[in-house]
Amino acid sequence: MDLLKALENRELTQVGDDLHRFAADLYPICRSITGDGVRRTLSEIRKLIPLQTTEVPTGTRIFDWTVPKEWNIREAYIKDSAGNRVVDFQQTNLHVISYSTPVHATMPLSELKPHLFTLPDHPNWIPYRTSYYEENWGFCLSHDQLLVLEDGDYEVCIDSTLEDGHLTYGECYLPGQSTDEVLISCHSCHPSLANDNLSGITVATALAQLLAPSDLRYSYRFLFIPGTIGAIAWLARNADEAKRIRHGLVLTCLGDRGEFHYKKSRRGDAEIDRAAAHVLHHCSKSSEILEFSPYGYDERQYCSPGFNLPVGCLMRSVWGSFPEYHTSADDLNFIQPGQLAESLRVCTAVVDVLENNCHYCNQNPYCEPQLGRRNLYRSIGGAAVPEEISARLWVLNLSDGQHSLLDIAERSGLPFGTIRDAADLLREGGLLSLTAGFELLDRNQIRP
Ligand SMILES: [Zn+2]
Repeated sequence: MDLLKALENRELTQVGDDLHRFAADLYPICRSITGDGVRRTLSEIRKLIPLQTTEVPTGTRIFDWTVPKEWNIREAYIKDSAGNRVVDFQQTNLHVISYSTPVHATMPLSELKPHLFTLPDHPNWIPYRTSYYEENWGFCLSHDQLLVLEDGDYEVCIDSTLEDGHLTYGECYLPGQSTDEVLISCHSCHPSLANDNLSGITVATALAQLLAPSDLRYSYRFLFIPGTIGAIAWLARNADEAKRIRHGLVLTCLGDRGEFHYKKSRRGDAEIDRAAAHVLHHCSKSSEILEFSPYGYDERQYCSPGFNLPVGCLMRSVWGSFPEYHTSADDLNFIQPGQLAESLRVCTAVVDVLENNCHYCNQNPYCEPQLGRRNLYRSIGGAAVPEEISARLWVLNLSDGQHSLLDIAERSGLPFGTIRDAADLLREGGLLSLTAGFELLDRNQIRP
């Protein structure tokens, strides 16, 4: 099976436009770690892929945490004494601190100011702030907006509810030949933020769309969950499923113009770590591999010592390292169709490695087989050995049942796809057989 070729058969520009359009559809929705914004987001995703939603009641104990109250908001504004809305939730949901408790009062500017948050270094941008675990209320606005507020009384309204309800997450399970699983996880708890949140959601959805019609070696589980508390809730409720995870990726910040970064799993030498590093080395202009650290996204939970799952994190710019991070400047212009499409391509290439990485045994291990009479060698000798011939020789030499195709790709310096193509040819020519225990589907089994 060759997922990458299936993707490349589609016009990548069109793929990027589709990804960006989906991000634009989701952008206005006011998401948080709970509430109807999450449900609306999941129902949009469900139009594209099979998705099961789970509702976990407020107060449920999940390891050391408790599912919080559910937050919903209808309206919020600050009006000056003339009745003008000087801050209006209808213009952008970033104006309200996520999880703000309800308030409706009139107060002087001096009393209001401790509840106002701005970014003086970027006076046009609105910050993104949350107060999930401490009951509070507040507004975020541009520093320019703050500077023109005159002394006087202001009417403040946040029409929100914070009450017992549920934490909602979405799950797309694609069964494969094996019950061993590949986990793809992204957070879906940020409101109108494009790179941090929507880029991961859109790329994960598109990857699930690509995999859904394919005959897969592994089963795939896509999680669309609120950051931290959602991953903890899923892990607490799915101990058996977690044991089946063989490889995993957290997807985030995949739409900006930065170079790719892959953060290794806690294990550091898992197959997913090697597959991601190999793909980035061969298909990106420049990229960086980061060692595991216990902060970042939900890889923190998957890689907590009790689970220690082989889950890394793929991103372009690293969270917190770009000025637009957690501000209104992380908008639909900050993410680009071309970048989203390229990110989907990298994810697909990583999955391609996982799906096709297997061990072969050379059936003719005593000296080199005569490739020429099998039409597997160039007929006229030349100075340089073409890459595809080199790949065949590497595969034959290292296929001793101990080395995987990824091992061979790494050692030869050749791209995984070239090594896999060579192995396919040699297998068809009767020179290789699969090592027992490494089932593999035939190529090109993607259903129309
Ligand atoms: Zn964030």
